[in-house]
Amino acid sequence: MKKLADIGLIGLAVMGENLVLNMESNGYTVAVYNRTVEKVDKFVNDRGAGKNFIGAHSIEEFCASLEKPRKVMMLVKAGKPVDDFIDMVIPHLEPGDIIIDGGNSHFPDTIRRTEYVESKGLLYIGTGVSGGEEGALKGPSIMPGGSPDAWPHVKEIFQAISAKVESGEPCCDWVGEGGAGHFVKMVHNGIEYGDMQIITEAYQLMKELLGMNNDEMYEVFKKWNTGILDSYLIEITRDILGYRDENGEETVEMILDTAGQKGTGKWTGISALDLGIPLTLIGESVFARCLSAQKDLRVKASKVIEGPKPEFKGDKKQFIDDIESALLGAKIISYAQGYNLMMEAASEHDWNLNYGGIALMWRGGCIIRSVFLADIKKAFDNNPELPNLLLDPFFKQKVEEAQEGWRRVCATALANGIPVPALTSALCYFDGFRSERLPANLLQAQRDYFGAHTYERVDKPRGEFFHTNWTGRG
Ligand code: NAP
Repeated sequence: MKKLADIGLIGLAVMGENLVLNMESNGYTVAVYNRTVEKVDKFVNDRGAGKNFIGAHSIEEFCASLEKPRKVMMLVKAGKPVDDFIDMVIPHLEPGDIIIDGGNSHFPDTIRRTEYVESKGLLYIGTGVSGGEEGALKGPSIMPGGSPDAWPHVKEIFQAISAKVESGEPCCDWVGEGGAGHFVKMVHNGIEYGDMQIITEAYQLMKELLGMNNDEMYEVFKKWNTGILDSYLIEITRDILGYRDENGEETVEMILDTAGQKGTGKWTGISALDLGIPLTLIGESVFARCLSAQKDLRVKASKVIEGPKPEFKGDKKQFIDDIESALLGAKIISYAQGYNLMMEAASEHDWNLNYGGIALMWRGGCIIRSVFLADIKKAFDNNPELPNLLLDPFFKQKVEEAQEGWRRVCATALANGIPVPALTSALCYFDGFRSERLPANLLQAQRDYFGAHTYERVDKPRGEFFHTNWTGRG
């Protein structure tokens, strides 16, 4: 074993242990440390036995065991523990050493920490690491941002341990300055919320409107997974629908219908509101989880409020194809909106984001991995300045082809009282986006009426403002 480690990791929980095993299996010597120090020996003597790990029992020993420039990576609980460890390691580091946070930190924290660590003469990386514990072990998607000078020092290790696409390209590249890496990881998680929500809406339509059983739905998801919707989430939904417990019960049907969330979807929604970006599909997906959590209230309401009884009269096979179209159309909108959010954040924070590279990073090693992302990469390769995915010829054509079935699905769902908030809000965004004129003229008139907020006129140059005394005449 080498005397000094190539990289060090603090935080031997599920993610940390698996990530260092991944690093070691790629030929790197890794120093490990954990707040509860007993876990260090346990790991080194158990899962790490006979492998190239250096177990450290103090921060001092840990930092001294690293090759220079030292690379100290943390995979600890997000929040205060990250700040605490930064302050603990700084006295043991030298100019040019690198501190890396691989946890799910909120991007404003990463912006602040990058500035703080750089002010000490050190370099900082805040990186999204996606794909859960399995990804950490077998190859995650890695989205690093922070101090650009740090990237050449970690590039080889990060790209070696990351997931790879079929062509062998790594699902890891430099994202951008400051909090860019954690921002992109946050948007990834928001998109994950959206992809999951539209799939649940498809499930509810098939179940409650078409009266399909889980075996039939299993076959539909299996078929979808061979087409343009081919993705990890479609694949696991197929498996979930086919799964029965020991008593023969369909396990998914036994699960209480209240969804949890850890907050990254909420962060994405808040960020969209802050930046003024219509991120409607992800927003609705977060709210759908919130509504699901109001279980007791919903049970009460269900006993007293009447609505239509779902009844399907059309061509069932055609409607299943329509649901596939609706999923595709809504998914295109979700990515278009997510990319718009990243573009706005990039302009706000002066990040130079590589949009095609981001799609490539999400192609493997993460929950939203899908064939579809290859087309997004192509769209940005063809036009790096693409202002909206819907204006790319491929996606424009796909969404135009999908809209007929997608509209039938939304209209039928609404007529039958089946909630499809993500599918419908995406369609409304699509119709709004392709509208030359929206009714915001009336809105501006209202604002001017009650608050003298003024308005611009279609027959005058932009930037000239007018006010009307609305009660003064007529
Ligand atoms: P975790 O449960 O988030 O954190 C456990 C680690 O944090 C342990 O090393 C623990 O040390 C340390 N820790 C907790 N509180 C601390 C404190 N107050 N001061 C110092 N250290 C503290 O572990 P995880 O699930 O492996 O996740 C690690 C990071 O990756 C998190 O930011 C998480 O959000 C992110 N992440 C997780 C997943 C996942 O699937 N789990 C996926 C992607 C990203 P002790 O052993 O001493 O308690």
